[in-house]
Amino acid sequence: MTLAPATFAAAADGGERTQVVTGHLPTGAADFVHLPVEVPFGVREIAVSYSYDRPAVPPGTPGNSCDIGIFDERGTGLGGPGFRGWSGGFRTSFAISRGSATPGYLPGPIRPGTWHVVLGPYQVAPQGLDYRVEVTLRFGDPGPEFTPVYPPERARGRGRAWYRGDCHLHTVYSDGRRLPAEVAAGARTAGLDFMVSTDHNTSASHGIWGPLAGPDLLIITGEEVTTRNGHWLALGIRPGEWIDWRYRSRDDAYPRFVRQVHGAGGLVVPAHPYCPYVACQWKFGYEGADAVEVWNGPWTYDDESAVDAWDSRLAEDLRHGRSWLPAMGNSDAHSAPQVVGLPHNVVLADDLSRMHILDGLRAGRSWLAESAAVQLGFTATGHGRRAGIGEQLAVPADAPVDVRLDVSGVPNGTVRLLTDEGQLHQESLPASGSGTVTWRTTASLATYVRAEVRHPRADGTPGQGNSMGPDLPWGQMAALTNPILLRITD
Ligand SMILES: [Zn+2]
Ligand SMILES: [Zn+2]
Repeated sequence: MTLAPATFAAAADGGERTQVVTGHLPTGAADFVHLPVEVPFGVREIAVSYSYDRPAVPPGTPGNSCDIGIFDERGTGLGGPGFRGWSGGFRTSFAISRGSATPGYLPGPIRPGTWHVVLGPYQVAPQGLDYRVEVTLRFGDPGPEFTPVYPPERARGRGRAWYRGDCHLHTVYSDGRRLPAEVAAGARTAGLDFMVSTDHNTSASHGIWGPLAGPDLLIITGEEVTTRNGHWLALGIRPGEWIDWRYRSRDDAYPRFVRQVHGAGGLVVPAHPYCPYVACQWKFGYEGADAVEVWNGPWTYDDESAVDAWDSRLAEDLRHGRSWLPAMGNSDAHSAPQVVGLPHNVVLADDLSRMHILDGLRAGRSWLAESAAVQLGFTATGHGRRAGIGEQLAVPADAPVDVRLDVSGVPNGTVRLLTDEGQLHQESLPASGSGTVTWRTTASLATYVRAEVRHPRADGTPGQGNSMGPDLPWGQMAALTNPILLRITD
């Protein structure tokens, strides 16, 4: 949907001109409403503010909510070059000039031509949505250019080792309240080796991270691609690269952007697939995905759903001989008191570099931890061979396979060992939180084996697997491993 254009005459140096556009959007308005802005020569800064009404709605009915962003004279084409920033519903105003921009927006030349302010009526009340958009053009010398400083692609690693990292983090560059410096400090406090910046729908923070990375902290650029049919993480895209989000599952545009991320060497990770918020549930399926975020922030019931669905898919993928989908856990921390690194991924990688970390995550050589206080080792041994997390153990069908879990940092925790038959072993940890659990199976009995370590339930009991009842049988997750695969040899 495109509105009548706002046109501006050129002004003398230092002057400014303002236009106000008002209108009404009915229930059922298009996902994106375009307001053309004719920008003449000589503009130094574009400033936009907007507001909309919030009429009372019956209980249970969504009220008005409207996002905003802007595209420049290069156009609004899907995945095109015209993107200049998006602030969702987080800000009521923004400004862009050659040398600076409101966080979430891209500084750069203000070239003449038709720009578009884009409204995203996210929820529209039954009465409709009355909006008011004010566009101010300030004329004059464009000033110095903005120089992005991207983070380096590697940090000081320990060679092939387990590295901890949170791959889903927000800042003031989208809808978080933390500055990038505060997020980087949070990653260091949490004992992380790496982090991925994933502000919603914009690459604007990429050029800010450079000075915040260091030998002790690898910062990888990414984006949370926030569609109306679910959110996905584009991890490890090129610094400054932007991934479009303006489509639904029915539009069939998603595969194009999956290819874009893969072309950049990045990972596609559906995020919080069962989050109950409007437009947050994942509706694009898992074809093309490299992993799935089964644990998002503090443990909640939607994470149980995500783990169950992920587990069911493992056996199906292995039956079809497809690559299986590794599990990931990330904090999705936006603001205090949300904790950076709760949870995070512990990845076996050849070095602490963007490429090696992404390789480890893609291969599922990783486990998920609620904090760096939790340590874990998980192996399967049989027929003179050994395999670790994400690896495959090839053994004769009936050869004994010894599974061993070493864990610490989960006082009175409950260890669960699960295969494609479900939970087959449960054992409690002592008050010290440290213990070793061993269990024997065969490749004929188990296609894969994975481990969970749970906290006690609220009443202090460990919970009981293979049981039914009105309450969740388990306490909160403390650690979860990707599977070890068992393959039958001839
Ligand atoms: Zn999200
Ligand atoms: Zn998020």
